[in-house]
Amino acid sequence: MHAPILVTGGAGYIGSHTVRLLASQGRRVVVLDNLVYGHPEAIIDPGVELVIGEVGDSELVRALFAKHRFGAVLHFAAYAYVGESVTHPLKYFQNNTAEPIKLLQVMEEFGCQVFVFSSTCATYGVPDTLPITEANSQHPINPYGRSKLMVEWILADCGRAWGLRSACLRYFNASGCSPDAKIGEDHDPETHLIPRVLMAAAGEIESLEVFGNDYPTPDGTCIRDYIHVEDLADAHARALDHLSGGGASIQCNLGTGVGVSVNEIIAAAEDITGRTVPVVYGPRRPGDPPLLVADPSLAKRLLGWEATRKDIREMLRPAWLWINGPNQGRYPRKKSS
Ligand code: UDP
Repeated sequence: MHAPILVTGGAGYIGSHTVRLLASQGRRVVVLDNLVYGHPEAIIDPGVELVIGEVGDSELVRALFAKHRFGAVLHFAAYAYVGESVTHPLKYFQNNTAEPIKLLQVMEEFGCQVFVFSSTCATYGVPDTLPITEANSQHPINPYGRSKLMVEWILADCGRAWGLRSACLRYFNASGCSPDAKIGEDHDPETHLIPRVLMAAAGEIESLEVFGNDYPTPDGTCIRDYIHVEDLADAHARALDHLSGGGASIQCNLGTGVGVSVNEIIAAAEDITGRTVPVVYGPRRPGDPPLLVADPSLAKRLLGWEATRKDIREMLRPAWLWINGPNQGRYPRKKSS
């Protein structure tokens, strides 16, 4: 019997898909989430315990460790709005960097030495070469990326000092949802491209603003590597097994290796939905690199992991189901909001 796992931020988008996978594999999972951006309805497995609280509440986290004796921590809890990180850097350094330090302190106290960390391709900044490998230099261009990179450094130092073994999983663009659309992507505000394209197709927003069509790419719009959220979840389960089996710390990219432009996504969405996506071309969004595509081969070598869905339509189809499902792309809102 495996020791239970603590999943912080397990009520968020990527966290909840991972929790669902881990629970389906028969693992014992406790979620710690402050529900600032998470949704309790995103945890659909009755066997998963949700504790509402802060990662940095050491007393609470200590009590959870004393009760459950976790064998590993998967740390998703973080803020992830790049623009907000520029205007409110301290909020990001506090939540994304300082809070996990407190969590790590408790892990050290309890001798828990396995940590799977949600890192990001934003730690690379504007890549010097493409596709991006783990050997690319990490020069983040915004506080969000820096807040995550600092945790990568902290994890490496804890590894040297007290044997922590960690997996820094550098996500590219998470997208899609579970094929039954029981859980999905619900950010408030929603700033991500795929949900916004589909909201425009559904008439929920007047139009989609495309941030720049004068980039040095074939159609002038930005190119990204969109990775299905369930493939991300699978990589977490594998990273957990790797570390729990005594494997050494790893850092790897999680992407498909396929680049898709904003215009290509709009065209695919029109095809899938049978609707027109009203589009307005606007200026570039500050901080957007023109092209971000992963070389995911290291994850394959280290974890035997590979994205099983590489066609953007496979992300768009379930996301469209989610928007048209019983929740209409939204979990119930808290009364106060
Ligand atoms: N984008 C856009 N309009 C939107 C949202 C995003 O043109 O309403 C573009 C954005 O400039 C980027 C790509 O879509 O090139 C993906 O953006 P998203 O915010 O989804 O993810 P990011 O790459 O910033 O993590």
